[in-house]
Amino acid sequence: MQNIVLFGPPGAGKGTQSQKLIDKYGFVHLSTGDLLRAEIAAGTALGLEAKQLMDKGILVPDEVVVGMIDNKIKSNPDAKGFIFDGFPRTVAQAESLDKMMSQNNIKINGMIALVVDEEELTKRLLVRGQTSGRADDQNEELIRKRVQEYNSKTMPVADYYTGQGKYSAIDGIGEIDEIFTGICAVIDQF
Ligand code: ADP
Repeated sequence: MQNIVLFGPPGAGKGTQSQKLIDKYGFVHLSTGDLLRAEIAAGTALGLEAKQLMDKGILVPDEVVVGMIDNKIKSNPDAKGFIFDGFPRTVAQAESLDKMMSQNNIKINGMIALVVDEEELTKRLLVRGQTSGRADDQNEELIRKRVQEYNSKTMPVADYYTGQGKYSAIDGIGEIDEIFTGICAVIDQF
């Protein structure tokens, strides 16, 4: 079993690459952004609360996303592996993930970071906003706020995995298939 954290700022291509990894390796995809949007679509209390923060480009509380991930790990006991996309986004989330993994007798094999500069991210997100219907992709100020949240709260998560000897970086600019080949090369070494 392989469990991978796919890391990078909003617009780095985590969702695109996750889809290709699922097709190739049969991983279960755990995207906290997708899980939160499903809660919003279902009109749950959790979704309503999360939406207010997401609409401002601010991270939702750690306990909310940790709870969702815990449920998903437990409800997939036969998974070939998990791909974590958009989670963990704070060091506290990373610590909780390690606890959840050890409670289930599994572990994170490694973090793969997609490296993309801010100018390229903003461009990509504005293009995505034209088709995704996501309000948070249609407003440049909101995009900057999300990148700011990433720089202040999420970047330290890379150091957390570096400290465990589990960090690898891949250039996230280039052909989708070329980037995918780079990611697979890392995974195949785990
Ligand atoms: P993107 O990577 O483009 O920002 P996501 O779908 O991953 O898109 O996240 C959308 C929003 O959902 C974030 O701006 C944040 O408010 C919330 N969110 C998603 N994952 C997390 C998380 N792990 N912790 C806190 N908030 C999260």
